[in-house]
Amino acid sequence: MDLNRAVRLPVSVLGIGLFALTLFFAVEWGERPARGRDAGGTRQRSRRSTDAGMATGRSAPASETLKGRPGSAGRRLQDAALLLGLDRPRVKRIATRWRRFDGTRIVWDQRVGRLVTFTFDDGPSHRVTPYLLDQLDRFGIKATFFVVGRRFGGRSSIAQKNQEVLREEVRRGHFVGSHSYTHPMMAQLSTDRQKWEIMSNEEAIVRTCGLRPYLYRPPFGGRTAYSNRLLERRAYAIAMWNLSSGDPFGRHVAKVHRTVLKKIHKHRGGIVLMHDTNGWSAAAVPLIVRSILLESCTLMRRGEQPYLIVGLDRFAADAHGRLVPLDAEDKTEAAAWFDRTRRLCQAGIREP
Ligand SMILES: [Zn+2]
Repeated sequence: MDLNRAVRLPVSVLGIGLFALTLFFAVEWGERPARGRDAGGTRQRSRRSTDAGMATGRSAPASETLKGRPGSAGRRLQDAALLLGLDRPRVKRIATRWRRFDGTRIVWDQRVGRLVTFTFDDGPSHRVTPYLLDQLDRFGIKATFFVVGRRFGGRSSIAQKNQEVLREEVRRGHFVGSHSYTHPMMAQLSTDRQKWEIMSNEEAIVRTCGLRPYLYRPPFGGRTAYSNRLLERRAYAIAMWNLSSGDPFGRHVAKVHRTVLKKIHKHRGGIVLMHDTNGWSAAAVPLIVRSILLESCTLMRRGEQPYLIVGLDRFAADAHGRLVPLDAEDKTEAAAWFDRTRRLCQAGIREP
């Protein structure tokens, strides 16, 4: 009897211990942390992986990607440098820009006054995007591309061409965000399929660029409770827009130009939504920028603040809506844009 009890006690202690250990790992490593951990512990850790600037999703389970492994950040920087053909300091600077979105859950047009940023969805397109990239370079504009994996995720020759375009977007200093893998209506999908859409696209972007995105634009703007939770756990900021160009419908350069300008005037700037899969949209961009510059000349003559064309990070805000404060780089960028606008106004705007 005594002997029996003496054996049973350690066995039950061992049993309870094992159960507790299993529970711990289920919560710590599981795909779905227990309720209440999403916003707290898990988010903190995911932010730390944002600090490293990137995480590799290649064949790594989600939890591992979130937590990161000691010493892996440097290796990932090397991977990215190799894939992008840039030196490590340059890749590190690109990664640092992503930190602007730390703590941002949703990007709205929260800036007051005459800031414009361009976002392009549904690409990359090897036929349209390279032209657009050259136009953006011409004006010194940093835009954001929300890409869909089905265009570059495979091994076909078109996918490979689009992969090169995607790498070029990052090389030239633009933000690349996720727009799901196949651009579905998320609300019509099971949670498993929603997860697949988000994770597969993330992995495809990491495979192509070595850098993972921390921005996500929902296809058709459709957000679900499940995708919101998953995106938060994966430390994504959801990027919306307020100036839609209507370019899938108004299939003319002049029409897109007119629509975007009208909305910029009405809202005094904001986040422009266009599609770099449309030739007419890409062709409208230099016209829109010229018009913004002309408008800025008028504003400056009146002693008012001109429009500034900025990166999406200038719209990043924390959970309380507080915008990311400007740093020295922002101020230099803004001053350069301001100076250039003034010189162009004096010379008469022709060739930027
Ligand atoms: Zn789209």
